[in-house]
Amino acid sequence: VKILILDKNPVTPNFYKIKLSRFIKKSYELIETKSSDEMWSILKKNYKNIDCLLIDIGTLAAQEPDTMPQFLKQTIDDLPPILALTQSLTDFDFMHTLSYPIADYLEKEKLEGPLLEKAILYLIEKHKMSKLISKQRENLEHLTNYDTLTQLPNRMLFEFNLKQSLLRAERNHRATAVLFIDIDNFNAINTSLKHSDGDKLLQLVGERMRTTVRKHECLARIGADEFGVILEDIQDETLASLFAQRLQNTLMLPFKVNDTEIFLTVSIGIASYPNNGNAPDELIKKADMALFCAKESGGNNYQFFINAMNTQALVFLETKNALGRALENKEFILCYQPIYDLVTSKITYFEALLRWKLPDGSIIEPTEFITIAEDSGLIVPIGYWVIEQVCLQIKEWQGLGKNYRIAINVSMRQFVDKDFLLILQNNLRKNQLTPAALEIELTESMLVENYSATIILLNELKSLGFRLTLDDFGMGYSSLKYLKDMPIDALKIDRFFIQDIVNNSQDRAIVKAIITLGAALNKTIIAEGIETLQQLSILHKLHCHCGQGYFLCRPQLPDYEF
Ligand code: C2E
Ligand code: MG
Ligand code: MG
Repeated sequence: VKILILDKNPVTPNFYKIKLSRFIKKSYELIETKSSDEMWSILKKNYKNIDCLLIDIGTLAAQEPDTMPQFLKQTIDDLPPILALTQSLTDFDFMHTLSYPIADYLEKEKLEGPLLEKAILYLIEKHKMSKLISKQRENLEHLTNYDTLTQLPNRMLFEFNLKQSLLRAERNHRATAVLFIDIDNFNAINTSLKHSDGDKLLQLVGERMRTTVRKHECLARIGADEFGVILEDIQDETLASLFAQRLQNTLMLPFKVNDTEIFLTVSIGIASYPNNGNAPDELIKKADMALFCAKESGGNNYQFFINAMNTQALVFLETKNALGRALENKEFILCYQPIYDLVTSKITYFEALLRWKLPDGSIIEPTEFITIAEDSGLIVPIGYWVIEQVCLQIKEWQGLGKNYRIAINVSMRQFVDKDFLLILQNNLRKNQLTPAALEIELTESMLVENYSATIILLNELKSLGFRLTLDDFGMGYSSLKYLKDMPIDALKIDRFFIQDIVNNSQDRAIVKAIITLGAALNKTIIAEGIETLQQLSILHKLHCHCGQGYFLCRPQLPDYEF
């Protein structure tokens, strides 16, 4: 521990050595200086190693009426604590004119060893503590302002920076652009990778993007696979489009995660000040809308916000936000539609179909919100709610003597979620049900897109006793090889092929072929979307096993008398 002392006139010779003798025994080092120049120069070289400054104010007042040297002002936060010694009232007044931080003072005349020691130790401790606290505060600030995965600013800091940028832009009469960047089909890429590899990919994308922005420009991660950039102080929007092109080109090169090369594209939405408004919220919303439109037009492009985007994109954004609250507010309900055996005309099982009931009583069909729920990841908790409800429903019907299996629709995102199997099993156990009580409907396209990732899970589910159905069959280009290998119990022919089965002989031929093929592979065949008697009788003649449709029964609330 080092104590640097400035005092031209100690009260007695060796004053400090005597007063601090106990300190010296404990290997404290005293460095005594007689002039402020000497003190500053030692401090300049050594300020990090000095633990405390003991300054006789009288000496300082006599030698240096000015304030502290420039370099000290810059390092003021790192300076050791200063203990001032005063002798007279003039010292005291002078002390208050000093601009550097005096932590405490003692009267030199009355100075006792123990008192001085205590004061010094206290200052050193306090100084250490305050450094620690400010370090922790920095850490905390980092945590609340930065994304832990990519180390980029998070949405909160992004919004804060945007506010500042806009103030500067207004002052300097310059433009500022906000860009929202979203990875195309990230869900699909992510599900084809291991969980940790998906994270790794996002880190790499973040790093690559950082090379395209200048040092002072803000690049942030504002959502799962969504990034934001603020282009400040630009002449006009042309620069934003040049930047967007550069970003797209940079990201076109493959990313290497472990040994896999991944190619990706991004969609970019751009809104700018002053063209699209001057409030941060407004620009963010408009950039988000422009991004939505870039996605809608197929991805891999950038779009500037234009007013015409308002309605469609607004619906999307509002739905996304409202969906987030819907689960909490218990706004979802399930309807049940029976699937009939076409030979016996008896109900074989039910399909659970999700509905979103708004506070005003209106009902929203799943086609209007499932994709949005999938994009935002909300489909995972929603899907778990469905599993829970369906298990309760099976149990309740069992109590009434109705033993029916219920089919649930499962999205890819939920299917590959690490908790999927666990949650299924927990809900079955809670209601004393076996896996055979459930049927899991997966769409053909989602299985084909992620074949290797899903086949293992399919086999596992199958071996546990769950029944598996390939939904919307015929729309997803699955090859016959997949059909042979997949442990699927049933094929549900898409409504699209049924709707014209009466008048269109080609559709009829396709349905006939699917039925023959399915029967040969030992799968149950279900026709969906039967709306007329003619359709039903054709399917019956073609020996389709099961059928579902408005003609037979519409989806109904569970208290309906089926
Ligand atoms: P899907 O699994 O193919 O469900 C069958 C859809 O066809 C249902 O639409 C049903 O109401 C409708 N439908 C049944 N019979 C007829 C008919 O005769 N004519 C016509 N025009 N339609 C008929 P819905 O309930 O609107 O659901 C649409 C899609 O939303 C479902 O297609 C399914 O893919 C998805 N979905 C529904 N509930 C859930 C869920 O809980 N989770 C997930 N991930 N997706 C769900
Ligand atoms: Mg279905
Ligand atoms: Mg279907």
